[in-house]
Amino acid sequence: MSTGFTHDVIIIGQGLAGTVLSATMQQRGKRVLVFDAPLAGRASEVAAGLVNPVALRRTVLTWRASEMLAIAGAFYRDLGLRYDTPFWHPLPLVAIFPTAQEAGIWQLRISDPETGRFIRMDTTSDQSLDALAQPYGRGIIDRCAWVDVRLMLAAHRAGLLAHGDLIEQRVDPSGIKHTVDGVRIGMHTAPLVVHCGGPFDKLNGLVQVKGEGLTVRIPGLHLTKAVHRGVFVLPTGDDIYRVGATFAWDDVWSGPTEGGRHLLLDRLQRLVEREVEVLDHWCGVRPASKDRRPILGRTGPHEAVFNGLGSRGVVLAPWCAQHLCDHLFDGTAIDAEVAPDRFDH
Ligand SMILES: Cc1cc2nc3c(=O)[nH]c(=O)nc-3n(C[C@H](O)[C@H](O)[C@H](O)COP(=O)(O)OP(=O)(O)OC[C@H]3O[C@@H](n4cnc5c(N)ncnc54)[C@H](O)[C@@H]3O)c2cc1C
Repeated sequence: MSTGFTHDVIIIGQGLAGTVLSATMQQRGKRVLVFDAPLAGRASEVAAGLVNPVALRRTVLTWRASEMLAIAGAFYRDLGLRYDTPFWHPLPLVAIFPTAQEAGIWQLRISDPETGRFIRMDTTSDQSLDALAQPYGRGIIDRCAWVDVRLMLAAHRAGLLAHGDLIEQRVDPSGIKHTVDGVRIGMHTAPLVVHCGGPFDKLNGLVQVKGEGLTVRIPGLHLTKAVHRGVFVLPTGDDIYRVGATFAWDDVWSGPTEGGRHLLLDRLQRLVEREVEVLDHWCGVRPASKDRRPILGRTGPHEAVFNGLGSRGVVLAPWCAQHLCDHLFDGTAIDAEVAPDRFDH
């Protein structure tokens, strides 16, 4: 630890960003103190946790998909071992083609050497999938996964609390005192504070995107793979499914809406002609960015940010945390695509 400081790093926020970052820093031997107050509308609380390397609307690979996926799989498996609880669950994703054109595009992309490594047509017989409406057929992405975000955050929080490394308190910006060589919050000092406040942070380029979803019971459906057709349907066991999510850019803090519920149920019923019982209706605000890339790096001599994880936070966060730590502790350059100052002009 740096001399004279109580900690190496203070992190504000323990959503997905703060969790993955603090765990990564701890792995590197840093003494970390996390402040978190669970604010209404936080994203990670409702994240479905799906990891999918393909943008389904255009059937193209997501940003740096292969690298992100490899690093994410290793990170969540390791963290699961640390807490003796598996968080990373491989789960193939089935894409039901809404039109003949989309089926054609999928077929075309299979012949692309990069994308073709991830997608294939699904012609195997599966009773539960065969029962879904699919006049244009379906494809499958085998290398998808589901991360139990809520369980992971709770396990890490308990781990931090047990060692006195988490303080349940909202930090007001005026409570962060800048000293000559670092920062002080109350009695705690460090040469560096990292803001991981998600949609609550004030940051150039940050865009808040509201998302709603449902937890439903569909007796007799028996899906064992995730399915997408307009919405994701994620099996969580016992014929209970998470269905989501909507995207809205206005009025983001207004909570669950009738319109959101209606839209999700309408899309679900286009896929599943069965009785659906709604068990829960949830809502959160994604911290996205203007150019859909994360936002990480220093914003001052003793301040940094880790934000902008958007709708794919689960797969992005481990790479982002590694990249930010390399920058902060080893002095490597921040990739221009994610640097916070790209929005300053
Ligand atoms: C409906 C929905 C579904 C989603 N599904 C998926 C999915 O399937 N797969 C996927 O990869 N991503 C998904 N996401 C996106 C994912 O949830 C986000 O990318 C990720 O959770 C963002 O994490 P975060 O830590 O940046 O923000 P948050 O989760 O919002 O965490 C910020 C934390 O900081 C705390 N905080 C903020 N300010 C302060 C302060 N001043 N003092 C103390 N504490 C503070 C907040 O209370 C919160 O705990 C989904 C998002 C939504 C809304």
